[in-house]
Amino acid sequence: MRRSKLWKKLLDVEHVVLEDEVLEAGPGGAEILVIRLRPDKRHWLRCPLCGCGRPYRDDGEGRRRWRALDMAVMACYLEADAPRVACPRHGVIVAAVPWARHDSRYTCAFEEYAAWLAAAMPAKKAARLLRITWRSLQSIVGRVVAELAGRTDRLAGLRRIGIDEICWRQDEYLMAVTDHDTGRMVWAAEGRCQDTVRAFFTALGPERAKQLTHVSADGAEWIHDVIRERAPQAAICLDPFHVVKWAGDALDELRRRLATELRAAGKDDQAATLGSGMWALRKKPEKLTGTQRTTLAQIAADNKHLYKGYLMKEQLRAVFAARGAPGRVLLAGLISWAQRCRIPEFEKLARTLKRLRPLIWNTLDDYGVSNARSEATNTHLRKLINRAYGFRSAGALIAMATLTRGGLCPELPGR
Ligand SMILES: [Zn+2]
Repeated sequence: MRRSKLWKKLLDVEHVVLEDEVLEAGPGGAEILVIRLRPDKRHWLRCPLCGCGRPYRDDGEGRRRWRALDMAVMACYLEADAPRVACPRHGVIVAAVPWARHDSRYTCAFEEYAAWLAAAMPAKKAARLLRITWRSLQSIVGRVVAELAGRTDRLAGLRRIGIDEICWRQDEYLMAVTDHDTGRMVWAAEGRCQDTVRAFFTALGPERAKQLTHVSADGAEWIHDVIRERAPQAAICLDPFHVVKWAGDALDELRRRLATELRAAGKDDQAATLGSGMWALRKKPEKLTGTQRTTLAQIAADNKHLYKGYLMKEQLRAVFAARGAPGRVLLAGLISWAQRCRIPEFEKLARTLKRLRPLIWNTLDDYGVSNARSEATNTHLRKLINRAYGFRSAGALIAMATLTRGGLCPELPGR
C-alpha cells in the first residue's frame, strides 16, 4: 500500500494531497506528530458555507493546525495553509478544508469521537481523555449537534409531548419539549414566555400541531393558553411530578414556619427535630432509612399539623399511582381534606388543585402519558446544570442535552 493511502485511511480524510509528516516538541515537552497536507485541486478554495469555488483573496492568518485523533499515544495535528476566499454571498472567509468543519480547529473525526464520548461518559472525563478543555468540548458538541440536527427532523410524528421549563442560571430559563412516546427531548430553547412556546409551535407547523393528542406541562397557565391557541384539539395534562412537588413545597413551607414558631417559644429541641426531618418528610416512604422512620414517628407524636401535611402529600402521590376513576376519588377526598385542614399552606394547595382539577383528570384518564419521561428530561437537564460544568451559554447546554437525551449522537468514526 502506498504511504499516502495508508495515512488517508488512518486519518479518515479524503480529497487531500499529503505532503510530509514530522515529529516535534509539543506543549509540555511531549512529542507531537504533525502531518502537512492540502486539499486536492477540486476542493481547493471553496467557501465553507455554500461549498462553491471562489476566488483567492489573501493568505489569512497563514498556516493553521487542526487537532486530529491521537496516533496511539501521540497527539496528532494536521497542518495546512488557510487562505481566505471572497464569496459574493458570504464575504471574505477562510476557505473550507475537507477534513474539518468551518471555524473548528479539530478534524471531523476528532469531533465526532469527542461528541460520542461526551454522550457516553461524564463530560469532564471525556475532556481529560481527549486532552482538551471542557470549554472546547462544549464548542465541539455544539457544532456536531448543529450538523446532525440539520439532517434529521426531530419533530416528525409527535403525538404526545411534555413542555417543561427549567431554570439553568439565576433568572434564566430553558424550555424543553419531550416526546412521551420515545422519551426523547425533541426541542429546546432559551426563554420562558409565551413567545418561547409559540416558537416551538412555529417550528412544528400547523399541520403537525393538529396531530398532537396530549400535551403535558406544569401548572403555568400562560403555557396552557398557547397550547389552546395552537393545538386546540390536544388534551392538556399536568405532569404528576410537578403536582406532587407543589405538595412537597407546601410541606417544606409548613415545616419552616413551625420550626420558627417553636424556636420563638423556646422549644429548640423540637425545632431541631423538624430541621433533621426535612429528608424524612420529602422522601418516598418505601425509601426511608431506619433513622428517618424514627424521626417521622417523632414528628407524628409531637406535631400533628406537620404530620397531617405529610399524609396529604402522600395521598397526592397515591392519586397518580391509582389513576383513572380511583385516582379521581382520592383527589376529591384530598381536596376536601386540605380545604378544611386549617393549615394555610395546604389550604392554598387545595385551591390550586381545585382550579386545575380538569387538567389533572386528563392526566389520570390517559394511561399513555408517561410522567417518567418528562421527569427524566427534567432531571437530566438539572444534573447537567448542577454538575457545575459552567456552560458558556444556554445554546451550549441545549446542545449537550440534545446530544445526550435528544438521540442525536454521532457514530464513532471508522466503525
Ligand atoms: Zn459562500
